[in-house]
Amino acid sequence: MDIINVPEIFGSDVFNEAAMKQHLEPEVYCAWKHCITTGSPLQLSTANRIAEAMKNWATAKGATHYTHWFQPMTGITAEKHDSFITPVGDGRVIMEFSGKELVRGEPDASSFPNGGLRTTFEARGYTAWDPTAYAFVKDGSLYIPTCFFSYTGESLDQKTPLLRSLEEVSREALRILRLFGDTETQRVISSVGAEQEYFIIPRAMYAQREDLRLTGRTLFGAKPPKGQEMDDHYFGTIRTRISSFMKDLDEQLWRLGILSKTKHNEAAPCQHEMAPIYSDAVNACDANQLVMSIMKKCAAKHDLVCLLHEKPFEGVNGSGKHNNWSLGTDTGRNLFKPGKTPAQNAQFLVFLAAFIKGVDEYQDFLRCTVASAGNDHRLGGHEAPPAIVSIFLGDELNAVVRSIIDGTNYRDPEKRVMRVGVDVMPAIPKDTTDRNRTSPLAFTGNKFEFRMLGSSQSVASPNIALNTIMAEELRQFADVLEAAEDFDKALHDLVCQAFTDHQRIIFDGNGYSQEWKEEAARRGLSNYPSTAECMASNISPKNIALVTSHGIFTEAEFRARHAIQLETYNKTVNIEALTMVDMALHQILPAALHYSRDLCNGVRSKKELHLSCRAESALLERISENCDRLYESITALQEVLGHVPAETAAAADYYRNTVVPVMESLRHHADGLEAVTDKSYWPYPTYSDILFY
Ligand code: ADP
Ligand code: MG
Repeated sequence: MDIINVPEIFGSDVFNEAAMKQHLEPEVYCAWKHCITTGSPLQLSTANRIAEAMKNWATAKGATHYTHWFQPMTGITAEKHDSFITPVGDGRVIMEFSGKELVRGEPDASSFPNGGLRTTFEARGYTAWDPTAYAFVKDGSLYIPTCFFSYTGESLDQKTPLLRSLEEVSREALRILRLFGDTETQRVISSVGAEQEYFIIPRAMYAQREDLRLTGRTLFGAKPPKGQEMDDHYFGTIRTRISSFMKDLDEQLWRLGILSKTKHNEAAPCQHEMAPIYSDAVNACDANQLVMSIMKKCAAKHDLVCLLHEKPFEGVNGSGKHNNWSLGTDTGRNLFKPGKTPAQNAQFLVFLAAFIKGVDEYQDFLRCTVASAGNDHRLGGHEAPPAIVSIFLGDELNAVVRSIIDGTNYRDPEKRVMRVGVDVMPAIPKDTTDRNRTSPLAFTGNKFEFRMLGSSQSVASPNIALNTIMAEELRQFADVLEAAEDFDKALHDLVCQAFTDHQRIIFDGNGYSQEWKEEAARRGLSNYPSTAECMASNISPKNIALVTSHGIFTEAEFRARHAIQLETYNKTVNIEALTMVDMALHQILPAALHYSRDLCNGVRSKKELHLSCRAESALLERISENCDRLYESITALQEVLGHVPAETAAAADYYRNTVVPVMESLRHHADGLEAVTDKSYWPYPTYSDILFY
């Protein structure tokens, strides 16, 4: 067995701080450091020297190209590779890379979704190096993490608004910290740990299924005799083939400085999870994009395919991405960690109150960040969190919140009222037992775990939302507290008011239950089970005011993103519907018809011999009936696809309310045929073949 020296390989393909220290001249290194700590621009002469050092470092690692790596609004990353070659006139080349090439690129922006922000004739966009993120070498190229803008300065990517939201939350959080006497902290950092779920299946099976190839999920497939009811997969022994894939994956991630920490089997057959150690939000976002793309490449190397779709198989659990989020100081203090002194606890309660108030006020905004065709299959189903946003606090913290709302004392035997910031809050142990998997947003001791994100989605959007919401609430709180004459009283009133007004968002019970749906409706919480239903609330004046007042998006940028999200939904459902028609017409129906023709011939021969053919006749009856219905559904689907409204939001409603139900009935009949057709006639691998190979 090969032995990997993890500390040695870790980050070895990254031009990280250690590499910069080693490869840059001391004054260049200091100039870079100064630029990232103060946010000041980099001199071109410095950029030139960094570029030269980067190129030498990268070519020594086998890189021949460089690429400006960015995160357009497709949810994945984009890259265009240029080689370092420069002709020197005598037929030879040298390897060159200038500061200008490092700092700025000009990809043709017209091929990326822009939501109508620009028309094609002025499609120039540019990428700008984000010097806070490290460059790295992968597949023979030097990758330079960049932000992507239109020529007129509108952001066209996921990273720019994330960076903006981090500035906002840091500034407002600092105001609160100063009020509590913290003079040391210079920056508040949003930390993210994204647990990634995925499916791994054999490549040969994938190759035979058009639905998987074109849409990433199975559009057909009868329920296998066995599902996940035996609970024999979760944390079970990992198959050899999978574990060699995981080993390979870890090694590649470690080389790229990604803190891959935990791996295990998930609940569904063929489903697994990878969890990294958390890092700052920007790094976590970049890292998760790399994780997803490396998972796919690495699987291919092992003759496997990694499915990141939210719901690759009906009837078994889908995949999500748990987004663990918290705020901390640059001095290493976690602001969501309940402290040991009255002041620490008061500060914790201010952050908690801001979070609770913000999530309640902007529940629809948060919901919309995870809306997609794929995630529609999870949210509100019987596995992932419901589509209703609520917060789980756990028994202890809930009791504290209640005692503050009710003005009763949590522990004091003399029934004195616990005053925020004056008395010590009871210790809140890190919750390890009651995980309440049904909650979309759970407090887990020192962070919140947001579980609504789909497995294929970028972590940027929900984190932009969480940071911006927090920035807004902390701004309001800081305004009040800074002006207060009696700080302790103002603090107590503020926290108490926020808990009282927004307690409806707190829910510790079973999020899957019907009772919760009814209860949530009584509480006035929004419940949008699908993308089409929730998206109208996204562009409400309240949400637009939130994002524009904090400079996260201009209104035009926000509306553009909104349009892209809806268009993507529409395109996805359209492709799925067309794929269903194609498979049903060209594979499923012909297979069933072949089988029934052969059965008919058999019946004829048997009849000549006066043999009984009750089984064949019964089967033929069922197959014919199903074939007729299938054909009707195919025609119906083609018919509805011919009348999609032109306007984007109307089209989304139409897909959801008119197209999806016909797709479901088409599937129902196809799956019915699968159940009665001789397997040797069936045109592609079934659920049992794929999930229990
Ligand atoms: P588990 O949920 O398996 O018990 P943890 O709760 O320790 O594991 O962590 C789950 C994920 O949350 C990991 O990715 C971890 O790095 C991340 N995490 C832990 N602490 C924080 C934090 N303060 N902020 C953001 N993410 C965190
Ligand atoms: Mg977890």
